[in-house]
Amino acid sequence: MDMDGPQIHAQLITECYNAMRRRKILKRTSRRQKLGIGAVLLLAIATIVSLWLQESKFESGTAYVTRVIDGDTIELANGERVRYIGIDTPERGQPFYEVAKRFNAQLVEGKHVELEFDVQQRDKYGRLLAYVYVEHNGKRVFVNAELIKQGYALAYTVPPNVKYADEFVRLQRTARHQGLGLWSEARERTASDVYIGNSRTRVFHRPECPHAARLSPKHRVTFKSRNDALDANYHPCRRCKP
Ligand SMILES: [Zn+2]
Repeated sequence: MDMDGPQIHAQLITECYNAMRRRKILKRTSRRQKLGIGAVLLLAIATIVSLWLQESKFESGTAYVTRVIDGDTIELANGERVRYIGIDTPERGQPFYEVAKRFNAQLVEGKHVELEFDVQQRDKYGRLLAYVYVEHNGKRVFVNAELIKQGYALAYTVPPNVKYADEFVRLQRTARHQGLGLWSEARERTASDVYIGNSRTRVFHRPECPHAARLSPKHRVTFKSRNDALDANYHPCRRCKP
């Protein structure tokens, strides 16, 4: 196709214009991309800061306990639930459930408590995991320890939160020797001559428990008595209730 002078000029101008427009579009896109990256960065920073604030909200100071859920769980004024570290109180329907809950309520309900954290601050349910301290009759009481001391809780160690694990096992042994709380009940359960522990989960079973049967030899530990297992900081299985 033949083109005369003005036509060529017109075509050149159009091409130049198109090229400029393309560059402008490119430029606009890259600016938009920059804005996008900036927004993503800001969002990331905001998220990190808010997570950090959430995590560190209780680093120091006290919290108000609105109600007691059970022997080892409380609710704070901001709606957060706190599970006591290192102990386990009876579940609803088990002996001493009400007693443990009431004892916990007498100590902390409607009071300001101090929370101390260990390595892991929340469990998989999003509850705070804490050691709890309260002023009671003019004395500072370590609530987690007190529940074990009175025989209302078992020591229950879940790594990595093990700061007071040894102390809790010691307190448990003393409560048992004194026959307090949980240790006072005439146990209708029949004693077994051997108990099987899982060194990974630190739970122990009766030998006939399906969990014990499935246990790999690598993690299998045996105990001569229930007390030996408890003293070794093992927790009774919820299923076979050794
Ligand atoms: Zn079991």
